[in-house]
Amino acid sequence: MAVKKVDTIWMNGKLVKWDDAKIHVLSHVIHYGTSWFEGIRCYETAKGSAIFRLDKHMHRLFDSVKIYRTQIPYTQEQLEQAALETIRANTMRACYIRPVVYRGYGDVGVNPLGCPVDVAIAVWEWGAYLGTEALTDGIDVCISTWNRPAPNTLPAMAKAGGNYILSQLMKLEAVQAGYSEAIALDVSGNLSEGSGENLFLVLNGVIHTPPFASSLLPGITRMTIIQLAEELGYKIKEMTIPREMVYIADEMFFTGTAAEVTPIRSVDKQKVGDGKPGPVTKRLQQAFFDVVKNGNDPHKWLHFVYEK
Ligand code: PMP
Repeated sequence: MAVKKVDTIWMNGKLVKWDDAKIHVLSHVIHYGTSWFEGIRCYETAKGSAIFRLDKHMHRLFDSVKIYRTQIPYTQEQLEQAALETIRANTMRACYIRPVVYRGYGDVGVNPLGCPVDVAIAVWEWGAYLGTEALTDGIDVCISTWNRPAPNTLPAMAKAGGNYILSQLMKLEAVQAGYSEAIALDVSGNLSEGSGENLFLVLNGVIHTPPFASSLLPGITRMTIIQLAEELGYKIKEMTIPREMVYIADEMFFTGTAAEVTPIRSVDKQKVGDGKPGPVTKRLQQAFFDVVKNGNDPHKWLHFVYEK
């Protein structure tokens, strides 16, 4: 599905026309994958348009860049304001927000230091990432033949553009084999995450999720679901999870800004539970959508975009 153009994109402090938001072909990012980005959603809640956990996402962007010994030439507050400005300039009610920091055009060669650190923020309309039925019926997934990076290779805690070359291998393999998504194992063969989602399993009423050391991105939705689950009285175990647990789990689901809370109904053609979204998954979906759709926000996770 082609992205639907809007009017302007924020680039290095200015709003430029969508068609003029271009970079040079010799930009460092194109050759060496030197970018860090975020995916954030602005929801049209029952109480108005609001960005979900803007501060956490922007903070993770700064962390991603910091891991690579790089500095963003703006403050977190300035980029949060820029995201709001871009949404307002395009009069969006609900959208996906993509801030991206990248090494631009300057020197050539692997050493990035001679290239500027550029920043852009784009917004566009976006629906359910894995399809609307995915949220209600669940999706079919496989275990990828690709593993997530070994410790001390590519830092999984950084949301860096280059990491998504691996996600693409996972996604292509899965989609071409007829699955919606793949789950990757870490270097030891334990569960890690999807190509763009964190993973949760429910077994005997306890919710399990792999730890950061299993080579995964610290998801903002993951953090949110852990908190909501705890508040609802569920027991959550963050632990190293062997692959075979997917074949005996009662319920499984993915979390992510794009995927929201997506039930998994089968893995490697084996049904998860009875092949339908289970009660814990549904309860957590409901708690999540109560915030982002109904606008019920006791935690102050929503950042409203327009004056009421
Ligand atoms: N893992 C990966 C590899 C991702 O790309 C994403 C999407 N940002 C996630 C997990 C989920 O993170 P979040 O909930 O912050 O969107």
